[in-house]
Amino acid sequence: MEYTGPRLTQKQGDLRYENCHYTYLFGLRNTTRVIDGHGIAAFINHSCDPNCETDEIEGRVWILARRNIKAAEELTYDYNLYDGDFDAPCHCGAKTCRATMYDPELTAAQERKSRRKRK
Ligand SMILES: [Zn+2]
Repeated sequence: MEYTGPRLTQKQGDLRYENCHYTYLFGLRNTTRVIDGHGIAAFINHSCDPNCETDEIEGRVWILARRNIKAAEELTYDYNLYDGDFDAPCHCGAKTCRATMYDPELTAAQERKSRRKRK
């Protein structure tokens, strides 16, 4: 499935979701443009142990199966959030749930930074 929607600048996207506690903005590599996927993509939830993954191919974002998916199984991918002023707790129920929808490397970096600040 392709993650489609209007392509906006990051600033336009931020303004569009300024007072929302959620966004459907998908950041693209090597550009400040984002895709506002407020549409079919909104039905794909986050999981820390997802059955799908995203890939950007020639400027288009695809949600691809990581493994065989059973009929009626919910499609999920790891949001790997990297930008936001809000908490994004995860309750996906996976054994490997990290309790946040933020990127695990970013989360680790923030924890290191937070520990450094406390010293
Ligand atoms: Zn989780």
